[in-house]
Amino acid sequence: MKVDSIDPIGKLEDNNIFETSVTQYVNRVIEDVKNRNKGDEEFHQAVEEVLHSLEPVLVKKPEYIKERVLDRLVEPERQIIFRVPWVDDEGNVQVNRGFRVQFNSSIGPYKGGLRFHPSVNDSIVKFLGFEQIFKNSLTGLPIGGGKGGSDFDPKGKSDREIMRFCQSFMTELYRYIGPDVDVPAGDIGVGGREIGYLFGQYKRLKNANEPGVLTGKGLNYGGSLVRTEATGYGLIYFVDEMLKAHDYDLNGKKIVISGSGNVAIYAAEKVQELGACVIAMCDSNGYILDESGIDISLIKKIKLVERKRIKEYADIKSNSKYYEGQKGIWSIKCDIALPCATQNDIDIESAKLLVENKVIAVGEGANMPCTNEALSYLLENGILVAPAKAANAGGVATSALEMSQNSMRLSWSFEEVDEKLKNIMVNIFNASKEAAKEYGAEGNYVVGANIAGFLKVADVMISQGII
Ligand code: GLU
Repeated sequence: MKVDSIDPIGKLEDNNIFETSVTQYVNRVIEDVKNRNKGDEEFHQAVEEVLHSLEPVLVKKPEYIKERVLDRLVEPERQIIFRVPWVDDEGNVQVNRGFRVQFNSSIGPYKGGLRFHPSVNDSIVKFLGFEQIFKNSLTGLPIGGGKGGSDFDPKGKSDREIMRFCQSFMTELYRYIGPDVDVPAGDIGVGGREIGYLFGQYKRLKNANEPGVLTGKGLNYGGSLVRTEATGYGLIYFVDEMLKAHDYDLNGKKIVISGSGNVAIYAAEKVQELGACVIAMCDSNGYILDESGIDISLIKKIKLVERKRIKEYADIKSNSKYYEGQKGIWSIKCDIALPCATQNDIDIESAKLLVENKVIAVGEGANMPCTNEALSYLLENGILVAPAKAANAGGVATSALEMSQNSMRLSWSFEEVDEKLKNIMVNIFNASKEAAKEYGAEGNYVVGANIAGFLKVADVMISQGII
């Protein structure tokens, strides 16, 4: 039934019917999203996960229904799709598709990364942009939500090809971004090298050096210390805080991490520093198991410097083993699982294996790494879950700190930024904890993060009028 036909506000007097109508309101918005965004499964998944968890808030605060906050929230303010033509090393013309979704600018300029991966499409960019709204709100810093990218596959491309692609991508994107408008950064497939090429082209097109237009820049032209490490470090700060709140600690814990990119590597580095032992990591080809504790500096060399496959690790370290395929990584017995690769990495089968193996906590380093079914299963079985929106917000939070430094035209020391990052992560944990408690879901940080992130955006949206 369409909620409009029963007027959710009109039912306020009758508590029972009102509660039914809140559910109907949420379901109607979800149906609209599905109809308007046909086939965009990842986007549907992200919206469903958030919207269902907001039902208790709508019961308490019906003004959000009156103002149609959810209807407005799920519709991006603007979406840009563009052609990215470039010439490969053989002289062939290649064409990719570029995206930027400017989702919500209530609390600040659109902010969010660019992902270069063959899987990137409208659905992926929208799910990431939607998640970014809440994540950025949770940081407590003035940044709205956006995301972008391309179906370009950086794998196997030469440095010059990467440069030409980035230049072409920015030749279109530059019209839509700016330090006070929209500030992209990196994500999968976009690191310091790509940001450098993108920044160079932006500067050339604008004839202006505006460092605040991109974050994740090199340290010599406006980048911030700790930005490279921030998502991984932040994840561990959050997980550590969550464990402490439940009388656990990281000391001596066995950790399995999916992925071996920036997030995974710096999460591994920090968690080892705090006394835990990382026994497995993977890339898209397979995983390595090293019960004696993975040598993170070797992983850094293989993955970040040489850009090789993780298999190399097992060739060098004779006491480790390499297994083809990445899925098996969740069958390894561990205390804490950190999915830091990509979306929907932990499905229901993997979640069952983790529960069977008595995992204590799952910390989401990637964006939406658990399917909704997996997430529910983990929570129902009493597993502590550090949800992505909250737990991986350290990256974008440090991006916002980079923007602050750019505005002030100065830079802070490593210790200064790291301290701010740690405080932000502790605050995010506390906000998620409090919101969960207030809305009757104590210990459920998934719900808590959604609610805490939502409340701020929703109130600002109302205060800025129907726009
Ligand atoms: N791509 C990162 C994320 O998912 C960072 C975004 C940013 O720094 O703007 O949050």
